[in-house]
Amino acid sequence: MDLLNQELVAGYSVLEVGGVVIGLIILISVFKALFKKAPERKGVISASCACGWRGQVGAYNRRCPRCNAALKPQ
Ligand SMILES: [Zn+2]
Repeated sequence: MDLLNQELVAGYSVLEVGGVVIGLIILISVFKALFKKAPERKGVISASCACGWRGQVGAYNRRCPRCNAALKPQ
């Protein structure tokens, strides 16, 4: 009886540990993907202008702050 219970407990813990490890790996990969995409999600892009200006502008407002020309994202 004791041996059977031990096997059952051991099998259960292996399943639980495996599930936790897989869950953690999925969570970490999801968080990594979220943090990598965070700058783009904020709507900020790096750009440079023909007038020599270089910096970050809003993705939906691609205008040079110096000469007000349309910017191309880099
Ligand atoms: Zn400019």
